[in-house]
Amino acid sequence: MNMLVSTAQDELVAFLEEDARQPLPQASLAWKVLIVDDDPEVHQATVFALKGQHVCGRPLDLFHANSAEEAVAFLRSTAGVAVIFLDVVMESHDAGLELVRRIRGELGLMETRIILRTGQPGYAPEMSVIRDYDINDYRTKSELTHTRLMTTLTSAIRAFEQITGLTEARNGLASLAESGSKLFIPRDSRSFAEVALRQLESLFGSPLDAVFCGPLAGGGCEGDPEASGILAATGAHAALAGEGFDGLVQFPLVSLLRTARAAQAHVFGEGVTCLYLGRAHGKEALVCLQHPGGEIRPLVRQLIEILCSNLRVGFENVVLFERLHFYAYYDPLTRLPNRTRFLDRMDEGLAGFAESGWTVGIIDIVRFSELNDALGHRSGDLLLIEVTRRLKARLGREALVARIAGDAFGICWRPDGEEGVSAVLDVFLAPFLVRGHAVPMRARAGFAHAVLAPGGAVELLKRANLALSHAKLEGDQHWRFFSSEMESSTQSRVQLLNELRSALNTGKGLELHYQPQVLPTNGCIVGCEALIRWIKPEGESVAPDVFIPLAEYTGLIVEIGDWVFAEACRQIVRWDRSGLPPFRVGINISAAQFREVDFVAKISAAIENSGVDPARLELEITESVAMEDPDSVARQLHELKALGLRVAVDDFGCGFSSLGSLNRLPFDRIKIDRAFVRELTPATSQDCIARIIVKLAKSLGLDVIAEGVETVEQSRLLEEMGCSEMQGFLYGRPMHPDALAGWVGGNAGALRI
Ligand code: C2E
Ligand code: CA
Ligand code: CA
Repeated sequence: MNMLVSTAQDELVAFLEEDARQPLPQASLAWKVLIVDDDPEVHQATVFALKGQHVCGRPLDLFHANSAEEAVAFLRSTAGVAVIFLDVVMESHDAGLELVRRIRGELGLMETRIILRTGQPGYAPEMSVIRDYDINDYRTKSELTHTRLMTTLTSAIRAFEQITGLTEARNGLASLAESGSKLFIPRDSRSFAEVALRQLESLFGSPLDAVFCGPLAGGGCEGDPEASGILAATGAHAALAGEGFDGLVQFPLVSLLRTARAAQAHVFGEGVTCLYLGRAHGKEALVCLQHPGGEIRPLVRQLIEILCSNLRVGFENVVLFERLHFYAYYDPLTRLPNRTRFLDRMDEGLAGFAESGWTVGIIDIVRFSELNDALGHRSGDLLLIEVTRRLKARLGREALVARIAGDAFGICWRPDGEEGVSAVLDVFLAPFLVRGHAVPMRARAGFAHAVLAPGGAVELLKRANLALSHAKLEGDQHWRFFSSEMESSTQSRVQLLNELRSALNTGKGLELHYQPQVLPTNGCIVGCEALIRWIKPEGESVAPDVFIPLAEYTGLIVEIGDWVFAEACRQIVRWDRSGLPPFRVGINISAAQFREVDFVAKISAAIENSGVDPARLELEITESVAMEDPDSVARQLHELKALGLRVAVDDFGCGFSSLGSLNRLPFDRIKIDRAFVRELTPATSQDCIARIIVKLAKSLGLDVIAEGVETVEQSRLLEEMGCSEMQGFLYGRPMHPDALAGWVGGNAGALRI
């Protein structure tokens, strides 16, 4: 037999030896002893000598065979024979030795101890036989006295027990080694628990009534993440699988479980054992089991402890894996699936959804970030949780609800007609109670039919998103259903954006035109506004009203704005060189440019590079830019002013929301929006917005300019109100820089109104 070498195995051997000295718990189990002899008297004498005897605390069970054949037949049908008393000479002079060969070879019984006996003193088998066939002892039949027999038998039985113990240990270790690899396969705590119980059963060598307790939700998605309960169960407890701890009141092992939990240690009792597998990420795992016999034998206990350390590592792994999985596919706040998981689940069920008329939707909460800023992130979190609850309640159990972005939910459900679709937004009708505040929230939604589209769920979500962007144009609490026309308009927008990008990269197609700004009294130029023009390679010109919003939407406006500013500076230098009188140039700046941390630095660098006098430059920003982040814009404007630039409020009056900011922000000029100029008539001029704006500007000490002046009448009325400068088609359209130079030199002086 192989000797065990490692320390753990040495300990096992130590245990075995200890074990062998103690009476075994399974005291009722008798040692099976087989007597093989063709002499009936030997059988009788042996029975007589051993009758009623106990060896190592266990009784003896004697069996008899009168020939080698009978012995083989018996050994084939009966397992666990500890000792065989074997007559050497039976049918033939070496029939006994032949039988030994068959026992060890053919029957493969290596653990059974064999004591050879012979009636002929002096006739001893060769040493080689004893060694090769692992024979325990050799006795003559004259030594059949009670004492002699008992000594021989006891030492044989001890040897048998030790060998079987070691075999058991070896098998146990083998199954542990195997379990190590098995325990690392499961990817969720439930299947891990099942594998763990199977490993325990194989260690015990019999089915168990066992439960594996742990975190029910594992890394957890649906359900209470903190809830613990029965992950897996076998035997009499099988029905408990999936139950929470609350359901365990009737469970006979519950107090054992509590003890082990409190002690954070294994508890070995009479016929019951509770194994404490430790904590992983704050979640505890325990196994409770009932086993036949009394206490677990030390050997098995030792093996169990080794298995437990495997289980502990495996369990930590599986919980970690579940957490990773959870964070990859779920939103920890609402515990809803995230975008990836939503798409997966939609793809999984798409055929069915398409058949039964399901709809995919995106619900976008309006101004969610404002709520976050105003009431704090915790309030934002509470709001999202409440939206989740309302959506789930409205859409029913079948529906898929997911959080696909910070403030957007994805849904997939079967609506009840068109009303059922629009009713989704009704979850926003009642205000949301957030930390004692009733916060009214609004949303918008885009929907698409769940059809078997070539791109699958991704395509459907894209459609819903497109519908959403159309709904956004219509305003809060609006929704739109996807239509194919929406798609073609997007495609052309994407293409346009690509062309714009390449125009910017190659420097071909983008131009600045300049529209004069004049003093109405003499028609002399005081400035101009730089306005971008894009002429595509095939000669088609694209209006800024078309491509600027697109560029703003995608962020490309930042690069465009940089180019515009630098180009305007260069143009001023060119005009100066050609001898034109100096006039200022207004440059439109987008909100996105102010959001760049190095905006002021870039402006300053462009001024330095071109060598232009900063006093010649005026930045035009709209009210909404000033509104976006007043503190940051104010700081940047002060820095720009310190460089020597001027600042004008563009399109003033459209919102009047920024009246307050007029005081706080260092503006030089207000531009009256052309909408107010358009509506000017002598009849309305006394009581019109343009007049109020002019008054306001004067009271604040700001300059004022009117844009969009198309008629002499508008010009006269504005002049009468006190508006000192004008810009509009009446004086000049936006024009090529060379044309403007001509205009200044030629027309300007002639223009008199
Ligand atoms: P905006 O800043 O309000 O520019 C004035 C717009 O009014 C220009 O349109 C100009 O051509 C037009 N306009 C001037 N006089 C008249 C008039 O008498 N009647 C009428 N009906 N319109 C007049 P444009 O050039 O199409 O620009 C449209 C908008 O595009 C601009 O409005 C501005 O918001 C944006 N934009 C143009 N160039 C740039 C730029 O370089 N950067 C940025 N960020 N935006 C620009
Ligand atoms: Ca402007
Ligand atoms: Ca304007």
